[in-house]
Amino acid sequence: MPAEENIVCVKCTSVLDRTTIGGVEVDICPQCGGIWLDRGELEKLGAKDNSELDTLRSALGVDETKAPPIPSDHTSPCPVCEGSLHEHQLGNIQVDICDSCRGIWLDKGEFDQALAVIKEKGLPVELILSLANSVDD
Ligand SMILES: [Zn+2]
Ligand SMILES: [Zn+2]
Repeated sequence: MPAEENIVCVKCTSVLDRTTIGGVEVDICPQCGGIWLDRGELEKLGAKDNSELDTLRSALGVDETKAPPIPSDHTSPCPVCEGSLHEHQLGNIQVDICDSCRGIWLDKGEFDQALAVIKEKGLPVELILSLANSVDD
């Protein structure tokens, strides 16, 4: 296990707040409301009760007055490993996924949409993405 290091926000460089939701450790940006999920965590959160997820939603629903993060159309370095984040289409949203550790960065507001996609498909993110790539329209 890596040392407990502070993870820095991909979009606004604030230090992320680590919080545990139903036993899943997530890292939330207090500034822009983005969230970092290690591989498999989105699926775990998808299995949680709404009451537990509400805790997360309220943690994400920070400071509406702050400007939204700048959408990135370029790759950014992964906050936890040596890899870099690439955008992938997940349902109607673009999510940033590390090409190395497969962690996922979700901008503010993307969490529920991403969750809706995996619940609707009933598949893990990785599988949804590979299916989307194989049937490219
Ligand atoms: Zn941020
Ligand atoms: Zn990574």
